[in-house]
Amino acid sequence: MKTQIFKVDKDSVDILNMAADIIKDGGIVAIPTETVYGLGANALDGEACKSIFKAKGRPSDNPLIVHIAKPEHAEKIAYTNQLYYKLAEKFMPGPLTIILPKRDIVPPQTTGGLDTVAVRCPLNEVARELISISGLPIAAPSANTSGKPSPTTAKHVLDDMDGKIPLILDGGECSVGVESTVIQIKENEIVLLRPGQITPRDLMSVCENVTIAGAVKEELKAGEKALSPGMKYKHYAPKAELYLIDDRYINFVEFTKARQKAENCAIMCYDEEISLLESKNLLPIGKKEDIKKQTQKLFDLLRKADDLGVDTVYAHLPSDEGESLAIYNRMIRACAHRVLGGINGKG
Ligand code: AMP
Ligand code: MG
Repeated sequence: MKTQIFKVDKDSVDILNMAADIIKDGGIVAIPTETVYGLGANALDGEACKSIFKAKGRPSDNPLIVHIAKPEHAEKIAYTNQLYYKLAEKFMPGPLTIILPKRDIVPPQTTGGLDTVAVRCPLNEVARELISISGLPIAAPSANTSGKPSPTTAKHVLDDMDGKIPLILDGGECSVGVESTVIQIKENEIVLLRPGQITPRDLMSVCENVTIAGAVKEELKAGEKALSPGMKYKHYAPKAELYLIDDRYINFVEFTKARQKAENCAIMCYDEEISLLESKNLLPIGKKEDIKKQTQKLFDLLRKADDLGVDTVYAHLPSDEGESLAIYNRMIRACAHRVLGGINGKG
């Protein structure tokens, strides 16, 4: 299959119509969202969703997120409650995914056999326009090969999906850069299953009772059941071995400068450290205090590390609090919990 790629905005009517036709016919289109690029198909068509799993090489028990154009469209696919609408008012459209009991119209292929469905209304206008034109809820997981870093540009999608899907809509670089915040809700309770740009503190402005699922910060223990099936799989990993350095205990510049002499490695440093290190294979991730930028660049840099062909990558261990929790969660899983220094140090 030849993969076509077009630059688009919300007014690219012809291309969006073409994409909507592919989706209505049971095909897959890669779409930009504010978080990462998604592989979109008709969420109500079990066979179409099956083909998403095939293109990604994704385990079939890892459910897909269903994207809708307006919060109230959740009614077609799920049983909502008051808290859903309170959250929707504040955070939709935006990078928040809410797990709700599903209606029968949603096939088991979409939800990995679960009786719940993940619902999200994206901020990206191309994504919302496509959902509106197709008139369908669109199931869309991240458009990467399973296990690899999620794609934040159309080029990343092409690298993984060339020849596997007919169309990639290029809406430019994703502004958030990590996947949505995923939460489970009851009448008066929120459980955070995956951290994203919307933080536990943001959620507490709507409902005080917010808890964080164990697998967000730590490895699942043997035999422990994941509330969110995706949390049990290895994720976001570059081919090189990634090590995180707890810089409260190890001098990052001294340590990595020595590694640069000793091995074929890349260093994911803060911008302020560029001039202190050898220039070879540096992957600056942004200013020390600029967590937003670091989060937005992370997946691109993990892919760049692979392009450099290095054996190891060293990076700072991020804080696991506040807006840093999302990048902490992705990095700790990308490095398979290899942390150097500190009480959690395993190196
Ligand atoms: P991705 O498609 O790569 O953005 O991943 C979607 C995430 O949402 C995965 O971690 C899934 O496990 C999670 N998810 C999707 N649907 C559900 C659901 N019904 N219950 C719990 N987690 C879900
Ligand atoms: Mg993914």
